[in-house]
Amino acid sequence: MDNCIFCKIAKGEIPSVKVFEDDRVFVFEDINPILPGHTLLIPKAHAENIWEISGDDLAAIHRASKRVAEAIRSVLDPVGVAVFQLNGRGVNQVVMHYHLHLVPRMADAPALTMTDWELKPGNLDEIRRIGEKIAVALA
Ligand code: AMP
Ligand code: ZN
Repeated sequence: MDNCIFCKIAKGEIPSVKVFEDDRVFVFEDINPILPGHTLLIPKAHAENIWEISGDDLAAIHRASKRVAEAIRSVLDPVGVAVFQLNGRGVNQVVMHYHLHLVPRMADAPALTMTDWELKPGNLDEIRRIGEKIAVALA
C-alpha cells in the first residue's frame, strides 16, 4: 500500500534491521525498543489489523513468532518474552499495518510495566453478560 511505512520496509524500500523473512512474513527490530531485542513481525501483504489480515497470513505470523522467540531466547537468555499486538488507534496502534511485538526482558532490565496490571475482581454479572454476547456472536 502506498505511503505505508511497514509495506516499504517489507519491500526493502526503506532500511530496517531485518532478522528474518519468508514468502509471507518480514521480521525486523523495532527502532524504538521498549527493551533490547524488541522485534516486530509483519505480513508482507498490507492489512491494517486483526480484522483485515487473512487467516493464512495470521497463521504464518504466529508460526514465525515461535521461531523468532526461540532465536531470541537462545541469543539473549531473557527471563520472559511479552507478545502483543494492537488493533486501532483507541488502543494506541500507531502504525496501521498489522504487526506482532515480541519484547524480551533480561533479568537486569527495568520492569516491563505495561504487562504489570493490577488484578481487581470484575463485576461477575457484567463478565457473564458480555461473555454470553460474544459466545452468541461466535455460534
Ligand atoms: P504500535 O503502537 O503497535 O503501532 O507500534 C508501532 C511500533 O513501530 C513502535 O514500537 C515503533 O517504534 C515501531 N516503528 C515505527 N517505525 C519504525 C521503523 N521505521 N522501523 C522499526 N520500527 C518502527
Ligand atoms: Zn502496509
